[in-house]
Amino acid sequence: MSIKIQDIIPALHSEFNGIEQNMEIDNVSIDSRSLQNNSGTLFFALGGQNRDGHQYISELIKKGVINFVVTHIPEGTEGKANFFIVDNTLKALQDFAIYYRQLFHFPVIAITGSSGKTIVKEWLNYLLSPDYNIIRSPKSYNSQVGVPLSVIGINQKHNLGIFEAGISLAGEMEKLEPIIRPEIGVLTNIGTAHDEGFASREEKIKEKLKLFGNVKILICQKNEDVLKTLDSNIKTFTWDFAEGADVTIVSSQSFDKTILTVAQGINSFDVEIPFTDAPSVENAINSMMVLLHLGYSHDVIRERLAGLYPVELRLQVKNGINGCTIIDDSFSSDYQSLKIALDFLEQHKTHTKKTIILSDVFQSGFETEELYAKVAQLLSGHNISQVIGIGETISRELADFPNFFPYNTTQEFLAHYKANTFENETVLIKGARSFRFDEIVVFLEEKTHETVLEINLNAIVHNLNFYKSRLKPETKIMVMVKAFGYGSGSYEIAKALSHQKVDYLGVAFADEGIALRNAGISTPIIVMNPERTAFAAMAAYNLEPEVYSAKELRAFIAVAQQKNLSNYPIHIKLDTGMHRLGFMENQLDELIDLLKNNNLVSVKSIFSHLSSSDVPEYRDFTLGQIDNFERWSSKLITELEIQPIRHILNTSGIYNFPQAQYNMVRLGIGLYGVGNDEKEREQLETVGTLKTVILQIKDIEPGESIGYSRRFITSEPIRIATLPIGYADGIPRAWGNQKGYVTINGKKAVITGTISMDMMMVNVTGIDCKEGDRAVIFGKSPSVVEMAAILSTIPYEILTSISQRVKRVFYKE
Ligand SMILES: *Cc1c(COP(=O)(O)O)cnc(C)c1O
Repeated sequence: MSIKIQDIIPALHSEFNGIEQNMEIDNVSIDSRSLQNNSGTLFFALGGQNRDGHQYISELIKKGVINFVVTHIPEGTEGKANFFIVDNTLKALQDFAIYYRQLFHFPVIAITGSSGKTIVKEWLNYLLSPDYNIIRSPKSYNSQVGVPLSVIGINQKHNLGIFEAGISLAGEMEKLEPIIRPEIGVLTNIGTAHDEGFASREEKIKEKLKLFGNVKILICQKNEDVLKTLDSNIKTFTWDFAEGADVTIVSSQSFDKTILTVAQGINSFDVEIPFTDAPSVENAINSMMVLLHLGYSHDVIRERLAGLYPVELRLQVKNGINGCTIIDDSFSSDYQSLKIALDFLEQHKTHTKKTIILSDVFQSGFETEELYAKVAQLLSGHNISQVIGIGETISRELADFPNFFPYNTTQEFLAHYKANTFENETVLIKGARSFRFDEIVVFLEEKTHETVLEINLNAIVHNLNFYKSRLKPETKIMVMVKAFGYGSGSYEIAKALSHQKVDYLGVAFADEGIALRNAGISTPIIVMNPERTAFAAMAAYNLEPEVYSAKELRAFIAVAQQKNLSNYPIHIKLDTGMHRLGFMENQLDELIDLLKNNNLVSVKSIFSHLSSSDVPEYRDFTLGQIDNFERWSSKLITELEIQPIRHILNTSGIYNFPQAQYNMVRLGIGLYGVGNDEKEREQLETVGTLKTVILQIKDIEPGESIGYSRRFITSEPIRIATLPIGYADGIPRAWGNQKGYVTINGKKAVITGTISMDMMMVNVTGIDCKEGDRAVIFGKSPSVVEMAAILSTIPYEILTSISQRVKRVFYKE
């Protein structure tokens, strides 16, 4: 990329205020943490609920960045850099992408639909890459920000683009169409996902089809609702399992593959795909249709479709051997995704030493030499301590890179590898599929038993933003990470949220707060149950106590005096109806006396807790609590002449009583994907999935018993799978004996017989499964909400009961 500043000014519809017009930019960034090649970078200061790019500008100027797209010039920076002033920086980023896109003239395929977008994109890339230099969206970059960033990756060498677009609101597709400007459209399917953002299904279809307003051809499964909405000028190329489409498909499955008989007019041929599940078959057909449209021969189609592979889109963070952290990205290696993986490494590293194991890099559109020069620049920009290169090209091209260790093949590396090669470092493992880096991951991963609680960090951020969207932008957020982050891992969650705007963290006990501080978390922390013995430690670790009684306050003041503290932040808890902890109305005068003219402590906030914000029948009671809170806190504020933060809402409070948000809310269970209200729940994403594997499978005759105390007797022949998870892992015993179930290969397997300490048996009669297959204990199905309802408890109890011996694995999509 090389674009003159004079051209950018009109393209962005911006006003220029700067020091140097005679420059070119060769790179675009929106993330202050991952800048390369500074003087040629154009930085877009995106706003948003979480972070405001404007606040990083003076720091970036010091690092040598000169060009900024802003809504206003931050104080003290005028005259020190070039500013392109616009009304809306996101729109400016999109305008820039529109301008950049029209500099190139090659065919572009655009994919949208309710699911399968990313897989179809990755498969098309695989299927077409022998014949084209392809630019594609990295990972699932398909949003209002992701699409422009994907398009800005185009360079002179590319001759085909494949971009995906995803929308969740009306009006969004209109903005993406001119950025992508597709010639070929692929609509994967129209499901029910994201229906909330649209008035009706018709509206959603109409909005999606805006992506295809100027295409030469639209490829999709035949669907009357789509065809009647589509502009009649647009040619379609449709398929279906029934007669009537341009291509008719008959699908027949064997144990591990599907054979498709594809009939187009009088021509007919068979292709085999290595999948049997319906979504994969649909994605493969959509991909194949593009090849048919492009005129590929049946032989080539047959040969390439046989090579389709499962797409792994997540970057997984795993515990490694010798105190290492492993970031597993062993499925792709191209320049765009390397950039993303290095940024991810920067955000998730847990050590100062950073190692990357990197295979040959493919499909970038650059000449080899130029490509590796760029790779070297990326690596040195990220201060990688050690680079292990695997592959003949990378070994040759990076030979002069400092701390570079070349190997020709993965096998050669593994032959030289010793268990102490890596220690206390974060290792990014990034390689193309053909290099089989999964074999390296097996060696470096910490060996524990196979049961894991997987935590989806994207879902946490999604859920946070869902609740934020229901609040005023200025309302502060306290995230409750007590009880080990509701069982999901407090340190990792706090770390994942450190790039979001979170104002406070809430823990139950001082030692939880100390653990967070030791892990490097600097966000203010409030301790809800401060024990008197921990006051001194709290002061040492900068933890702020909840104060719920005069007696406690006196004790804390004594410690403050002894430690010479002044204005130490405290949080006053009022008992407005919960009757757990807190000052009652008749104790307020004593509190006021204690606090008046006291400069040892300072009232940072006043708060209360709702007992029944999730119970519709007690709406009036809750309104009464809010009313008490208003009156009592106002009295404190007036008499003490203070301006504290006020807060009373928990998750269900945010959902049901947003009018009482005051200056802050305390978000707990909702962050972890559990809403107490059904409508609310639909908007949340599942955070935790508890998984294990099948240890053994056996066939049992009628009349036999399963498990302890013979509580289940078989009446017919059944097949049983034994799973290595039991009540010591936190699975309630009451969930056994035909009450609960697990999910294996998409099917329900009922828990049969009593749950043991470390094991349980499930009925897999009629379920296609084998030893080593995964079983989902909870996640999407069964959900913890469903379990809690059947067990007459609440999801909170199930989540927080999962034993610490269950390994937590954190990942980002
Ligand atoms: C746990 C807790 C919360 C969070 O409640 P959720 O229902 O999980 O949102 C808020 N405030 C206090 C005082 C708490 O103890």
